[in-house]
Amino acid sequence: MNMTRITVAKGDGIGPEIMDATLVIIIAAGAALEIEEIQVGEKVYLAGNTSSISEASWDTIRKNKVFLKAPITTPQGGGYKSLNVTTRKFLGLYSNVRPCMSLHPFVSTKHPVMDIVIVRENEEDLYGGIEHQQTDEVVQCLKLISRPGCEKIVRYAFEYAKQQNRKKVTCFTKDNIMKQTDGLFHQVFDEIAKEYPEIANEHWIIDIGAAKLADTPELFDVIVMPNLYGDILSDVAAQITGSVGLAGSANIGEECSMFEAIHGSAPRRAGQNVANPSGLLQGAIMMLNHIGQTAVAEKVQNAWLKTLEDGTHTYDIFKDGVSKQKVGTKEFAKAVIANLGHGPAVLKPVSYSKNTALDLPRYKRRAPAEKLLVGVDVFIDWSGSEPDELAKDLNAMKSESVKLTMITNRGIKVWPNGFKETFCTDHWRCRFMPEQGRTMTKQNIIELLGKTQENGLDSIKTENLYSFNGKAAYSLGQGQ
Ligand code: NAD
Repeated sequence: MNMTRITVAKGDGIGPEIMDATLVIIIAAGAALEIEEIQVGEKVYLAGNTSSISEASWDTIRKNKVFLKAPITTPQGGGYKSLNVTTRKFLGLYSNVRPCMSLHPFVSTKHPVMDIVIVRENEEDLYGGIEHQQTDEVVQCLKLISRPGCEKIVRYAFEYAKQQNRKKVTCFTKDNIMKQTDGLFHQVFDEIAKEYPEIANEHWIIDIGAAKLADTPELFDVIVMPNLYGDILSDVAAQITGSVGLAGSANIGEECSMFEAIHGSAPRRAGQNVANPSGLLQGAIMMLNHIGQTAVAEKVQNAWLKTLEDGTHTYDIFKDGVSKQKVGTKEFAKAVIANLGHGPAVLKPVSYSKNTALDLPRYKRRAPAEKLLVGVDVFIDWSGSEPDELAKDLNAMKSESVKLTMITNRGIKVWPNGFKETFCTDHWRCRFMPEQGRTMTKQNIIELLGKTQENGLDSIKTENLYSFNGKAAYSLGQGQ
């Protein structure tokens, strides 16, 4: 077998112990790896590098393309950036894949037949971290959802389902409220689902979907969702299988990939030889599949399943009456190695011959739509409380070309015909549209801003309103 060169970071807390255990198991199983180790994490943060990774380490990761990473500790205090978020975005690791499977009756769970895979979009949504304070009372975070982001992750979910012989892909969004952002995700899901008639598809609004996932996870198979929902629900899904300590995750991009456990560095357990290496081992098994060493991956997974079935358990999953032997990290690794070549008797053994990396087509940009400027929302910082007064001031600025059509506060329409019960902050969205027979121009917006300035109104930002192919592409005021 050809050697594959990978980058390894042993991380902080329990990281070095679970990484050593993982490596010793996969190498004993015959993994053909050349390992290049880099230092990331707490020491690098505390040495003054706010991203916890040096230029040389980036070079190593980009050269080797495959990165196996143990958890790291983010020091307390502000100013430190999440290495995980940075790595996923810099390297374009758009797909986060987390299988969550019950190991009943060997690991206790309320959901004995659960076997799902969460495919989480990994680069965009609220994780752009684009935040601003604009008034005394209001801060905002931009939620960015792109067509390429949606197409890539939804296609990944369907291709994954096809490869793994899974029967259904479910999509979770909140598009009844976020009609543009989550609406695009749902729309792309529906478009791509049509290309896979052999796989069932369905969409759930995230709130009821999450409730069903926590209550009856056996209803689901593969679930695809935008970044924030996936972040939260993949932890819920892992936890209800029995323990977050058992789940691994793959972060896949077009060029590079990163594999890890889903849990953190558990600093209180560090250096005691008690941590469960299973989560990182699951990440390493996904890595072996990804690099084509599927036979080794299969051998390790079947030995791991047998070890759990034997009742050889670390403290976090040890249960009197179910477990047989409480072991430490090193002893667990030895038990898995002793089981290499054997498989489980009760749990289903795995077969990974088809599990190689997915070869997805590159995103192709479509022909541009016809984009037309149709209005503008001017946001005003105003400490009054009567929307009619603000409307009076704004109407005084009206020109032959544009008119005020609506004021909202936190999305609720408060003018015209607002409710006096609606609570208002100091952050007002004031919508201007062209007068009858006029078209909106950028010059109109510049003039409007000039007038707010002349009239002593504090404009804090504008959002242009566009139609695409004749369809209005912006939210209305709630209540409108
Ligand atoms: P954690 O996941 O480290 O620990 C949560 C609980 O689970 C603790 O009780 C811990 O003892 C237990 N636990 C976790 N992994 C275990 C394992 N393999 N075996 C046995 N028990 C295990 O979460 P936390 O305490 O919130 O975070 C600790 C540190 O980890 C923080 O600095 C956080 O920023 C960091 N963190 C890193 C990553 C990462 O690098 N991917 C992810 C999450 C948290």
